[in-house]
Amino acid sequence: MAATEIAQSRRVVTEIPGPKSLELQKRRRAAVAQGVGSTLPVYVTRAGGGIVEDIDGNALIDFGSGIAVTNVGNADRRVVERATEQLGRFTHTCFMINPYESYVEVCEALNRITPGDHEKRSILLNSGAEAVENAVKIARSATGRQAVVVFDHAYHGRTNLTMGLTAKNMPYKQGFGPFAGEIYRMPMAYAYRWPTGPDNCGPEAAAMVVEQITKQIGADNVAAVVIEPIQGEGGFIEPAPGFLPAVVEFCRANGIVFVADEVQTGFARTGHMFACEHEGIVPDLIVTAKGIAGGLPLSAVTGRAELMDAVHGGGLGGTYGGNPAACAAALGSLEAIESDGLVQRAREIGDLMLGRLREMADRYEIIGDVRGRGAMVAIELVTGQDKEPNPEALAKILAHCHARGLILLSAGTYGNVIRMLPPLAIGDELLHEGLDILAEAFEQI
Ligand SMILES: *Cc1c(COP(=O)(O)O)cnc(C)c1O
Repeated sequence: MAATEIAQSRRVVTEIPGPKSLELQKRRRAAVAQGVGSTLPVYVTRAGGGIVEDIDGNALIDFGSGIAVTNVGNADRRVVERATEQLGRFTHTCFMINPYESYVEVCEALNRITPGDHEKRSILLNSGAEAVENAVKIARSATGRQAVVVFDHAYHGRTNLTMGLTAKNMPYKQGFGPFAGEIYRMPMAYAYRWPTGPDNCGPEAAAMVVEQITKQIGADNVAAVVIEPIQGEGGFIEPAPGFLPAVVEFCRANGIVFVADEVQTGFARTGHMFACEHEGIVPDLIVTAKGIAGGLPLSAVTGRAELMDAVHGGGLGGTYGGNPAACAAALGSLEAIESDGLVQRAREIGDLMLGRLREMADRYEIIGDVRGRGAMVAIELVTGQDKEPNPEALAKILAHCHARGLILLSAGTYGNVIRMLPPLAIGDELLHEGLDILAEAFEQI
């Protein structure tokens, strides 16, 4: 049976993780470095739509999409068919040795669907972190400047440069330094925790950023401002209204390249093809990965032709970047997004989830904030009115949901945010069932 034919219903037949998963977990401990963790160590055999099946015969509801990757659903038919067909013809040539059409086609598609109607170019790479690094290389090369501005709560990856760009020490940076130089961190417009209240947050945070860049770095020294239009690992923080447009305006006025890291927010996830579109922002460079290819490893930098083409020949690339199977998968994934209307579907998912989560927030004081756009929603857990982060409650709720077959992820600088990223192919019934399990968890604790 094809993965796409998996019955779209939850089934729990053992404890979770079950005996076979526990057995594999033992083997894993002897073979796999312990630095790599797993949120819910059930060993997967198949997945499709909104369901993940494990080796013990359980069928779990997927509220994670492998961290916003399988936006079109796991093992979507169009992704699988195109990638399989490609694998039967050739697996690799290296685009830098002998090119192939699908790489060009993916770049054409990215240039078409990303914000702005200016002339664009793209480059394909393997991972989100690698693409962020390349955006910084391009911005530095094009401007002849070095400084890079990033924000509190930012996450940009785990390579040396992107660890430096990432805000949170534990677990991402601890013991892994020294980090790259010329990285400057600025305040983020985090409305829920802004000292003078959410209404002042956007303008006040933007003014602080402008002042700090001007006084501490000098605007003329800044190559790029790199920001997630909705922060992912940091806790699904949507910059307060007005913040992003003000930062973009400052960049434009000072010749600074504005880089949107849309690795987590891209490809219909937030109810637009890209999250920048919520505030009408047109980035100079846009970094994409996760949702780009239905689960195959691929990433990209897309941007203004004059910036992208400023780099000398041979200055960008990599052995595997734009692998032909990953390119074929990306074209299949994009076909699925466009022909299934998944941008609109993400909005419906968001309305359904936010509605139910707000009802829960009215009943349970520990839900301090409910936020999100489209199928990227989160709840921030606190101890009460004082907004003190409550990671203990989060651990209990995750344990309850995992045991009942709901894959749920955490996030946040303070480890107190539950984030939900269901595949856009999930049905309403599974969404409701997942939310019922979550509501039950709140009732219990
Ligand atoms: C996941 C993520 C990255 C890093 O992507 P990898 O593919 O894990 O290297 C970078 N930026 C954001 C916003 C992300 O969510």
